[in-house]
Amino acid sequence: MLELASELIRTQPTSPSRAKISLQIAAKWLEMRGVPVTLKEERGVEALVAYVGGGEKTIVLNGHLDVVPGRTEQFLPEVREGRLYGRGSYDMLGAVAAMMHVVAHLTKNPPWCRVVLMLVPDEETAGRGTKMLVRCGYVGDFVICGEPSNLGIGVQAKGILQLAVRVQGVAAHGSRPWLGDNAILKAVELYRGIENLPFAGETSPFFSGPSINLAKIRGGRVYNQVPPDCYMGVDIRFLPGQNSQEILRQIRSLSGPNRVRVISRSPAVQTSPDNPYVLQLTKTVASVTGYEPRLFGQDGAADTRYFSQHGIPAVEFGPAGANHHGDDEYVDIGSLETFMKILTLYIRDFPGVETKAAR
Ligand SMILES: [Zn+2]
Repeated sequence: MLELASELIRTQPTSPSRAKISLQIAAKWLEMRGVPVTLKEERGVEALVAYVGGGEKTIVLNGHLDVVPGRTEQFLPEVREGRLYGRGSYDMLGAVAAMMHVVAHLTKNPPWCRVVLMLVPDEETAGRGTKMLVRCGYVGDFVICGEPSNLGIGVQAKGILQLAVRVQGVAAHGSRPWLGDNAILKAVELYRGIENLPFAGETSPFFSGPSINLAKIRGGRVYNQVPPDCYMGVDIRFLPGQNSQEILRQIRSLSGPNRVRVISRSPAVQTSPDNPYVLQLTKTVASVTGYEPRLFGQDGAADTRYFSQHGIPAVEFGPAGANHHGDDEYVDIGSLETFMKILTLYIRDFPGVETKAAR
């Protein structure tokens, strides 16, 4: 497993074309172990799907092969003090290697449910890999995305509403600013106003509030002019249960004649902690580790959103480690083995006929 994870790290999959090389490595590795593999490509995005087992119920194991950029030495993986260091070891090539091992093992011991392994590129950027697979009908009854979670279960995630706002001011000579209306100052004021709208003060069971970030600002040309216009980019991560349309309405009513454009929008993930598949996963984790896993909400979005959009319960669940997207990223090797054990047991006892009534 460490050898496989290390090979995936060494590929340096920071771009779609590099992730394609990882995909080829994964496909070859699985085929050599008797796992039939399908490669699906659409508009330059290529993803891998592999099925094992059979039965009425389907569990999806979803992993992304792409990683964020890192220093050259981060792509030379190293095992030290029970940890595998390297870019993507924690997010999430360690988990990918573990899931591949689980699936390869299942070909010899087929489970009573269907297991779909999805390996995708592009999670760190636009999420096009999983989006394409879901659009092509590759779904299931329950989805585990092997994101870094320290063996906790990420049941919910904030939604995304990214806006471009154009703020109009009035130009004047820079020596007489009182004759103009400074668009940059108006934009900042508008942003402060957004932070104080009713939606911004709301909370939900897993979150203390939505995230609001002034991500971009552009305005002003020369020193001796009051800037007549300003563009700002606002990144809002709203709570499960909040309605992005209502948030937009509140912002538009505050911004008056200034144009507010939606750049990107994605719903929140709101898998219920009481969902029978989640309850069973909680039980399996507790039986292997000896303690109840932490159920939590993620501030950032993962590929779980593409399944939850279709009402399919999806969670983030992966091994322990630290520093993903940072220096000294590592995954704990012991927890990677525990993760593998949990997945194997969970698939063996995957809620089937009995739970059908409970759903
Ligand atoms: Zn990730």
